[in-house]
Amino acid sequence: MNDYCKNTLAEKLAQLRAVFVARLPDELAALRTMGEGLRGGERDRGDLDELHERLHKLAGTGGSFGYAELGAAASVLEQKVKNWLSGDLASLDAVVRRSLAEDLSALSVNLADTRPGIEFAAASGEGQATGKVFRIWLVEEDAELGRQLAHQFESFNYVVRLFEGIEQAERATLKERPDLLIVDVPFEQRGEDATEVLQQSSGLRVPDCPLLFITATDDFPSRVRAARLGAMGYFLKPIDVPRLVSRIMQIIDQLHAPPQRVLIVDDDADLAEHMRLVLMAAGMKAEVLKRPQDIMEEIGTLRPELVLMDLHMPDFSGPDLAGVIRQHDNHANLPIVYLSAETDLEQQIQAMDRGADDFLTKPISDLQLVAATRARIARARQLDEQITRDSLTGLLKHASIKQAVDVEILRARRAGKPVTLVMLDIDHFKAVNDTHGHAQGDVVIAAVATLLRQRLRQSDIVGRYGGEEFVAVLPECDRPNAFLLLEDIRQRFSSLRFNHDGRDFTCTLSAGFACSEEHPESDGAALLVAADEALYVAKRSGRNQVRATNSS
Ligand code: GH3
Ligand code: MG
Ligand code: MG
Repeated sequence: MNDYCKNTLAEKLAQLRAVFVARLPDELAALRTMGEGLRGGERDRGDLDELHERLHKLAGTGGSFGYAELGAAASVLEQKVKNWLSGDLASLDAVVRRSLAEDLSALSVNLADTRPGIEFAAASGEGQATGKVFRIWLVEEDAELGRQLAHQFESFNYVVRLFEGIEQAERATLKERPDLLIVDVPFEQRGEDATEVLQQSSGLRVPDCPLLFITATDDFPSRVRAARLGAMGYFLKPIDVPRLVSRIMQIIDQLHAPPQRVLIVDDDADLAEHMRLVLMAAGMKAEVLKRPQDIMEEIGTLRPELVLMDLHMPDFSGPDLAGVIRQHDNHANLPIVYLSAETDLEQQIQAMDRGADDFLTKPISDLQLVAATRARIARARQLDEQITRDSLTGLLKHASIKQAVDVEILRARRAGKPVTLVMLDIDHFKAVNDTHGHAQGDVVIAAVATLLRQRLRQSDIVGRYGGEEFVAVLPECDRPNAFLLLEDIRQRFSSLRFNHDGRDFTCTLSAGFACSEEHPESDGAALLVAADEALYVAKRSGRNQVRATNSS
């Protein structure tokens, strides 16, 4: 998020707060008047209901708009009124009424001295490389090793800049910033100095730039030093480049994860808007439900990963709406979190019994709101990944990629656009396992996956179809483009050097593809068969090549 957006959001938050502050004296005056009425003893149950509602709202919003003490005091009074309402009206004698009136009047006494302070949740994880250009800076004293590594990274489509020393890299940060920094640290020679050198290189320790170490030293103190410097990886020489690149890929995934999506349901429009702005400022996509009746439509459009739901609302309660959401099978797992000033534990538990996952008590600070939301969505995403993604490669599993193939082919047909289906298979992979072991075989499989993800576009979909077989769907890609792309991937893969027990080795792959334009009648399954036939031709013709259907 750029500074301009951040400022605008900060301004909007300030505006909302200003509206709340402007209304506050009237609200407190109204509460005072109600207290006086109660003191006179002439009021009935309906007035207590109204008083309860106003206190409930104030308890929820006060804290969020920076008046924590006021919110807390309102919450205590709300609880008292609630107890009377739930049947204990007899205890509301003249003494109690007077004391309540005084408490209500006291709510406004210290208002002038309270300085509302709202934390502004900072955006994070943004401002990184856009698109597919990812800049790696490599600090390597050994010029020959540096060149070799840079060449290998370039095969994975990274833009690499090589430095012989950390000081040169630091100077370069005056003009440009890397997306990721890899440093060869000879810990054993410099001892503690290595830590100092890096810590002093303040320009390199930009907060949003992940740091990886390569080193020849594998001892606990060195690893701890690396951890203290915030290293996100520690790789021993000789460097297993595909493994290192897998780690880089994971880091990029984290940096470029799509914004988390949240639906806010709260009858207090100002508070709802406040929460929306706070979550947006933290880089999330948040929407406020305008009409409870539209909840399923809103869920369909926004596809929220979390619903933040008020408990008490005038026409429909939180549990009512949670119940409606749960009637839809495809939203059975959508996390719902109640956010309410309700402090009664029994009510909280009852509400959770009705379809929700957790309960947060208002007032909640901005940072708490962001942290609670972020952690829950991250966990839900992780679970979803475990179900649909293969753990070795991070690609879609067999069933998910087959489903994606069907969806994309239907979509392409509707739009009248071409789509290409690709099948790839590693050549003589059994021999890799036999010679270098199964674990090394896994590294080779992961390297194909990384290369595919690097070279394909965001809109392309790729999955691990079987052991060392992959399927990719390339929307809006015709035959000539598909051929160029796959040929490039084939060449890059064949130039990768794997290392096992000090021995270098290389691998190749074969690919077959089928374009919808040449198979207009085919559905997903038929296009898969066609691509597989082309792959078979590539294998039979000597492997390490790309073939299309109907080509010899
Ligand atoms: P071709 O060039 O004809 O494709 O020969 P190939 O040896 O690659 O093909 P084949 O299908 O005969 O062998 C694939 C091997 O892949 C067999 C299986 O043991 C191995 N394999 C399958 N899944 C995995 C895995 O997850 N990890 C490893 N290391 N090996 C796997
Ligand atoms: Mg094979
Ligand atoms: Mg195979």
